[in-house]
Amino acid sequence: MEHAPTHQEWQRRAAALRPETRAFLGGGYTEAADGRTFTDIDPATGKPVAEVARCGAADVDAAVRAARTAFEDGRWSRAAPAERKRRLLRLAELLTAHGAELALLDTLDMGKPITETLTVDVPGAAGCFAWHAEAVDKLYDEVAPTAPGSLAVVRRVPLGVVGAVVPWNFPLDMAAWKLAPALAAGNSVVLKPAEQSPLSALLLARLAAEAGIPDGVLNVVPGFGEEAGQALGRHPDVDALAFTGSTAVGKLFLSYAAESNLKQVWPECGGKSPNLVFADADLTAAAEKAAWGFLYNSGQVCSANTRLLVESSVAEEFTARVVEHVRRWRPGDPLDPATVLGPLVDEAQANRVVSAVSTARAAGATVVCGGTRPARPGAYVDPAVVTGLTPDAPLAREELFGPVLAVLPFAGEAEAVRLANDSPYGLAASVWTRDIGRAHRVSDALHAGTVSVNTVDALDPVTPFGGFKQSGFGRDLSLHSFEKYTGLKTTWLHYGQDA
Ligand code: NAD
Repeated sequence: MEHAPTHQEWQRRAAALRPETRAFLGGGYTEAADGRTFTDIDPATGKPVAEVARCGAADVDAAVRAARTAFEDGRWSRAAPAERKRRLLRLAELLTAHGAELALLDTLDMGKPITETLTVDVPGAAGCFAWHAEAVDKLYDEVAPTAPGSLAVVRRVPLGVVGAVVPWNFPLDMAAWKLAPALAAGNSVVLKPAEQSPLSALLLARLAAEAGIPDGVLNVVPGFGEEAGQALGRHPDVDALAFTGSTAVGKLFLSYAAESNLKQVWPECGGKSPNLVFADADLTAAAEKAAWGFLYNSGQVCSANTRLLVESSVAEEFTARVVEHVRRWRPGDPLDPATVLGPLVDEAQANRVVSAVSTARAAGATVVCGGTRPARPGAYVDPAVVTGLTPDAPLAREELFGPVLAVLPFAGEAEAVRLANDSPYGLAASVWTRDIGRAHRVSDALHAGTVSVNTVDALDPVTPFGGFKQSGFGRDLSLHSFEKYTGLKTTWLHYGQDA
């Protein structure tokens, strides 16, 4: 077995890395049509990682045409489900086999600690492909309860060309969450990775080809949101657009669809997820998870538990326990396998987070710890815990996407639920209590796509992921994800009643 690489070994591999930087269209790599590129920056050092093809409308159009041709000739869309399964399982194996390289690409692109990309992101993406591949030849269609003399078969059929636009916080996993069910269902896909993290998607494209996904079925167009992303959102020959990212851009995709061809849009957007801790909970476990819930991936998680609602009688003691855990999450070099907290995705984001904390302080809030830039190069922020906020304070309401916890006390179940639901978002929520009746009552009352009880941010391919309100309405993962990438088609056969 290969020894786990050391910090020096990861640094050596990073220095030697020559990643693929060109778009993947119609089964091959190619420069952008106009030859433009953009610089991909490592947020841990501020140094360039690569010059990447900057795709525009012409490249997106070429990708959509390749995808359409592949879809119409049936090279994938009419392959037997068992055959699609076989090739997607092979892709899952190839992702695992190239795990170290994929992990390194995501770590260099967006600063996530290498231990996380290696042990969570890569197995997560491989597992997502395997799970959807395994499912696709076990899904049966329907026969409708018509009157005698007719047979009405209701089938789920692939939509055609699916556009997928994804963010940088889990680059490989967000791509896998869209690609796995969309491809398993028989669609062709054009994927636009985030400009901060294009490299793992470009390697994934080659591995997909190696696994036997035919030319044109998967295309990857790196580039900027306003250019490649918008071109995909407005393209008249894209049938559905699966999006993960901010609520503001999710809304733009709905308007692109309205102004173009009424393509289906499936937005998975932001959140400000509450973590409700009652005085009767296991406060030791709750404190450790409360810290994890807003620090994991430096708080750059759409379902991060960034609002801590804690029962007044234990608020002070519990906050102190959380802060004790937070102090153990020290920022470090993401290439060091011992690092748990990397930088934020870029300088602008780090500065935005620091300025939001100082604005809260100026408005009277107490910054118990952190909220400043540590004295080291890179887009780092010391994790912050903030108390003394009113529920309408920006830090308690707006998604910040950084390692900042807003603490709000409550008195009783009713106030806890009211505060939790008083949000434009409804993605996730957590509840900590030993009272089984309260666990059910509060879970029932919370307006969130996933409620985790006595844990935070429960997530698995077997359950749907997505939210309510301005967190969007798409659902990734689970068999329900196929609903986004297929349409219902009825074939009604009239054969009469007389034998
Ligand atoms: P973002 O919305 O800025 O970008 C997401 C994607 O949209 C990127 O590929 C970007 O290039 C593209 N884009 C940006 N502007 C565009 C435009 N004008 N037209 C078309 N495309 C455009 O989000 P981000 O900063 O990359 O990611 C963070 C956001 O993602 C957070 O709000 C987070 O909550 C959300 N997120 C949600 C989920 C979920 O499943 N609900 C999961 C992860 C992240």
